[in-house]
Amino acid sequence: MDCILLFAIWAVLLNLSQGLPATVLPTDQDIQSQKHDDMDIFSRILEANKEISDVLLEGDIALPKTRNAMKCLNDYCKWPKSPSGLVEVPYTIAKDFYDDEKAVIQNAMKSIAAKTCVRFVPRTNQLDYVSIENQIGCSSTVGRSGGKQQLSLSVDGCVSHGIIEHELIHSLGFHHEHTRSDRDQYVQINWQNIPQASAYNFQKKDTNNLNTPYDYNSIMHYGRTAFAIQYGKETISPIPNSSVQIGQRQEMSNIDVQKINKLYECGEHITRM
Ligand SMILES: [Zn+2]
Repeated sequence: MDCILLFAIWAVLLNLSQGLPATVLPTDQDIQSQKHDDMDIFSRILEANKEISDVLLEGDIALPKTRNAMKCLNDYCKWPKSPSGLVEVPYTIAKDFYDDEKAVIQNAMKSIAAKTCVRFVPRTNQLDYVSIENQIGCSSTVGRSGGKQQLSLSVDGCVSHGIIEHELIHSLGFHHEHTRSDRDQYVQINWQNIPQASAYNFQKKDTNNLNTPYDYNSIMHYGRTAFAIQYGKETISPIPNSSVQIGQRQEMSNIDVQKINKLYECGEHITRM
């Protein structure tokens, strides 16, 4: 009798557990996507990167950090210009992305190509190339680093237009806007709200600002509460007007476009596809 009773309980539990994924998972996904809609781009990147933050710089910049990308003294960190005047960046996309995910990635590449002389081209045999992989988190090296350089886009949180543009712009040679050399005139870093272990994310860089204005609207700008010591605490505040919006996540700004065109001296090739 005991055995029959145990079997009956086991059968009921089994039924319940089989029923769970269908009823619970969609709710979890809804909460997740709603959370993403409410988050700025850096919160989303940091959320995706939280398991690997110890190997990244500034939240999503992968090692190595041997040079400052925007001051590219020997020009190697820039991708070379072809005789046609276009700047070709060879890439591969890992096979484990679905076609619709690949389309989102390639669409972000096209959006950069449409406004600059940069062209992301499928790799044939080029030595230096960007390898787009479904690894944990969203991250990229800054500029051309030589050989295969990984750009991670986890399918769990990183395959969205704004995030992909952000990581691709890192790969072209740009750091985060809030670390540029003149930032202290435009933002205040609230060190008291930043854990000591995360302070390096806010260190200023000796950047080449390409004579462009500081851009609160850059897709490369941190959100207000990135790395906050406590939920909702502001780590970075615009000055003098603290209500200026920062950390947008939709699309590269006009100044982002201008900067790419200046760094790569795009000239008349800007609108040519
Ligand atoms: Zn970044």
